Amino acid sequence: MESVSLSSRLNKGVRQQYMNLPQGDRCQVTYVWIDGTGEGLRNKTRTLDQEPKTIQDIPEWNFDGSSTYQAEGSNSDMYLIPVAMFRDPFTLDPNKLVLCEVLKYNRLPAETNHRARCRKIMEQVKEQHIWFGMEQEYTLFGTDGHPFGWPKNGLPKPQGPYYCSVGSDNAYGRDVVECHYKACLYAGVNIYGTNAEVMPSQWEFQVGPCEGLDMGDHLWMARFLLYRVCEDFGVVLTLDPKPMKGNWNGAGCHTNVSTQAMREEGGLKLIEVATEKLGHRHPQHIKLYDPNGGRDNQRRLTGHHETSSIHDFSVGVANRAASIRIPRHVGQEKKGYFEDRRPAANCDPYAVTMIMTETMLLDPEEHDKVYDFERDYV
Ligand code: ADP
Ligand code: MN
Ligand code: MN
Ligand code: MN
Repeated sequence: MESVSLSSRLNKGVRQQYMNLPQGDRCQVTYVWIDGTGEGLRNKTRTLDQEPKTIQDIPEWNFDGSSTYQAEGSNSDMYLIPVAMFRDPFTLDPNKLVLCEVLKYNRLPAETNHRARCRKIMEQVKEQHIWFGMEQEYTLFGTDGHPFGWPKNGLPKPQGPYYCSVGSDNAYGRDVVECHYKACLYAGVNIYGTNAEVMPSQWEFQVGPCEGLDMGDHLWMARFLLYRVCEDFGVVLTLDPKPMKGNWNGAGCHTNVSTQAMREEGGLKLIEVATEKLGHRHPQHIKLYDPNGGRDNQRRLTGHHETSSIHDFSVGVANRAASIRIPRHVGQEKKGYFEDRRPAANCDPYAVTMIMTETMLLDPEEHDKVYDFERDYV
């Protein structure tokens, strides 16, 4: 294990004295952005003289891209464009967290700014009111390099009792989960729920339903909050899609989707049309469902441990071994939504929702127009 921060062990009573100090009319704004890995988050904070009321009140800023794997040549200044504002659950009101898009020196989107492309696709289908809900699975590690709570030698008892469990022998690390949930609610992140997962010290939270571009904004901010809560507890978060080899479940980011028409009477017909279209672009989707062009998901989508094989595309009602699952109640009511189970835990939600929307709702002639698949994603 690499060295890790010992900040969680500092005296929190002393900290609280400072945190309780009044701050006048001034406001701390923490800018959050996605770095050049397409997976990592960065942040830095500045003071504004007044509390911003809307996103327009928050000025652009910049950072040194050569330190975030983002610089191009000698032009290392990158722009931060505020796009979504949340309340800061760590320093409390009136302080803010603000998610940003990253632009290069020439004001074109940075390579890992998938939001810029996602935005254009979502604008084209605005009137269809596409909703997403994403299930973020994740794994906690201790500072000893083992999954949190796992024995230093040997393994915990096999999978079986852990999913949705209660009790110290089965549920590893609930403090993190509960604090993160409260932090999301305070911040204004549209969190839907949480549960313990099949592998011990693996958990899930869901975000949604969110319309269009909001899905990515809310999931990225939820991830930021989770990293930050884990830091407070001295626990290490990983979104690796298969953190433990062997007979242990991987971590995905199931993506649930519906259009307004799918949610209305008889919508199941449209769900069937949409899932068939998804089947025709399986390889393109796999390329965008993790930040490394499908290589991360190769370890996870084995056809075992409640996954489909990365090489096959399948659709099933209530089938957790299919690529696409139509929930049983949706099959019965003949309307609702469906779930794409392929995205990996470390996927970029903007890339996932972008290509799902494009494949389902744009004519094939319109595919690959907003972004250049070969240039941007291969
Ligand atoms: P699972 O049974 O696959 O574990 P979860 O309960 O974990 O499902 O997650 C359900 C997800 O579905 C949530 O993220 C929720 O926001 C989303 N969802 C619910 N209704 C819709 C809908 N009509 N359209 C899109 N997503 C939806
Ligand atoms: Mn779930
Ligand atoms: Mn799950
Ligand atoms: Mn699911």
